[in-house]
Parts: sequence; C-alpha cells; structure tokens
Amino acid sequence: MADFSGIKTPAYFYDLDLLKKTLGVASREADRYGYRLHYAIKANNNPVILRIIREYGYGTDCVSGNEMLRALETGFTAGGMVLAGVGKTDVEIELAIKNDIFCINCESLEELEVASKIAGKLKKIVRVALRVNPSIKADTHRYITTGGEENKFGIVLPQLRQALDYCKNSAEIEFTGLHFHIGSQITSLDPFKKLCETVNRVWREFDITDYSGKMINLGGGYGIDYKKPETNSVPDFGSFFSLFAEYLELPRGTSVHFELGRSLVGQCGRILTRVLYTKQGAGKKFVIVDAGMTELIRPALYQAVHRIINVSSPGHPERYDVVGPVCESSDVFAKDIMLPRTLRGDMLHILSCGAYTESMNMNFNLREKPGSVYFSEGKIVPGEE
Ligand SMILES: *Cc1c(COP(=O)(O)O)cnc(C)c1O
Repeated sequence: MADFSGIKTPAYFYDLDLLKKTLGVASREADRYGYRLHYAIKANNNPVILRIIREYGYGTDCVSGNEMLRALETGFTAGGMVLAGVGKTDVEIELAIKNDIFCINCESLEELEVASKIAGKLKKIVRVALRVNPSIKADTHRYITTGGEENKFGIVLPQLRQALDYCKNSAEIEFTGLHFHIGSQITSLDPFKKLCETVNRVWREFDITDYSGKMINLGGGYGIDYKKPETNSVPDFGSFFSLFAEYLELPRGTSVHFELGRSLVGQCGRILTRVLYTKQGAGKKFVIVDAGMTELIRPALYQAVHRIINVSSPGHPERYDVVGPVCESSDVFAKDIMLPRTLRGDMLHILSCGAYTESMNMNFNLREKPGSVYFSEGKIVPGEE
C-alpha cells in the first residue's frame, strides 16, 4: 500500500481500481441476460465515485429530489433513473415528472393519486411501477429488512389489485410493471430465490401482463463479505444474476432491472484513522481513534461489524475495544478484537466502508466532515472533483 503518512485523519479512502473492477464484473454478468442495472445512489453519493459509475453505463436509483439532481449534474440520464421511497414529497414527484425519468416506484394508493394529480397539472404522463411488499423474510438485521409484513415499504398484496386498477383508470399514469426490494446485506441467495417465486406468482395472479406490465425491478440488497474483505473483495455477481435467469418466469420481452448499492461500492472504501489514545479500563484495553460514529454510523445504528487493521504496528497481538471520540456509549467500532500491540499515533484502517458510510456522515458534536482520498495503481491520485 501507499504511504499514508501525510494524510489528515480521519479520511474516507477509495480504491478506484477495485471500484472499476467491481463495476465491470457486475455489468458483464448482468449483460449475459440483458439485465439493466441502476446504482442506488444512497449507498455513496461522492461525486468522484458517481462519475466512475456513470462511465460504466449504469442507471440510477434515487430516493430524494437532491439525489436526482446530483445524478443529473453528474451526467446520468433521466431515462435511466428511478425514484423510490415511502415518503416522496410533491416537489420530488414534480421534479421526477418534469424530467421524464424512467419511472417512479409508487408505494401507496395515496401516492398514486398524488402522482396522477401532479402529472395532470403539468399536462404530462407519469410512468409508474408499483412497489410490492411481498412479505419475504430476508435473513439480515431487522433494521435493514424491507420486504416483511411489519415493514413500512411497498403496497401489500391485498391492496395491489386496487392499485393496478387505479393505474389502469388514470389518464395520467402509464403503468410499467412491478418493483420489489426485500432488504439489504443479504449474503445468502435463498431469499432471492424466494423473491423469484413470489414475483412469478404475483405476476400470474394479478394478470400483470393484462395491465400492460413490461418491466420488473428486483431492487438490490446483495451483500458483501465484511469478515474477509481482503480476500473476497468482489461479490459473486455471476451466481446472483444466474439465479434470477434460472428462476424468473416472466413473459418474453419483459425488461429486468436491479438496483445495486452496497455490492457495487461497499468494498472499495475504507476509513483511515489514527490512534489518539490507548488506555486500560476496568478489565479491558481501549484504543481511542480519531474517527467516530459520525464518520461511520453502521456499528452504532445496526450492530454492523467492520474489519479493522493496524497498518503501522507489527507488534504482538493484544485484545482491544476500538472506540471513537464521540460522546455516546454506542460510539464503538469493535469489541474484544485482536490487534498488534497498538500505540498512540498508529494508523488503523476500517475496511468495507464504501457503502452507507460517507453518505451517512453527520456533524454531531460539530465534527468536521473528513476529506476523501483516492487511490489507483498503487498511489494516491487526485479525485478531479
Ligand atoms: C437502498 C435501496 C437499494 C440498494 O440497496 P443495497 O442493499 O445497497 O443494494 C435498492 N433499492 C431500493 C428501493 C433501496 O431503497
């Protein structure tokens, strides 16, 4: 690795070569089946990262008006853009319709009415997919499942017929198809197989083809290996897409879309952080670093575990809790992990921080937003922002 000694910490660090490799593998594997890929911008909206993703020809999945604007500014096309979210504002829906985006994924009957009304006011047609809540349990943390009965997302099956009929009867709505997204950080293919079965069943039972449905969007949620990021840095997109090719039974010509976030960007990012202090507590040793939950909230928010390495010290392994400086007891990155004997000033890397890390940065305690560092072909490169 490069010489990081001059870098101000904490910093977000991105391996652009790994990002490109991952993007290349995912799009090549999706191309085998003609699947279309949208990048879920909320995973990481860093402009340098976005520009590279755009160069690889991805569409976008946005969850706010500002994400749509950022995507358009970056040069992504409106034609490859979808807008998702349970709580779209009127302003966001209007922005989507004015820009003629590929489609809005609608999540409730009321939202359909609002979208249709806004389109009428603008004298435009709004393309709509219906997001279905399929009641599938994804085996992941309870805060990142989205397709279960207790989740706020999507239209439940007992209301789907009414929603479809609403689309059919609205002069302003062009119904395109169905949208599903069952959760995030799903590392087993089994929930996706169940998703295919559900999609096939719902498509048949609700006569989606008779409603002129021509598109299926299967969302994202494919997980990454947080335990062994160095040796398993690119998710197995081959197995992922071939599963859908094997199990989906939809009419010929149906266009199949995915919205991948974490699996595309998760492994290319790290946090670089320096040790401020070490101290002996009651029964354990603490390593206090200069990054905190403000830079990486995932451990505090959903007990995420990130691998941490000490790149400065070759010392003998000892047991530590690695904690941040923020005034919250949940500001803990790791408990009881083994690190080489760690000293004040050592640099640690927190791995797998490309997704839901910089985009979740907050300024609690009035902490400054860290800078970003880009890395390619063995050296630090400018991001050309
Ligand atoms: C967040 C989100 C995604 C991306 O999820 P990942 O787990 O990062 O792949 C895709 N679709 C929708 C609707 C989302 O909200």
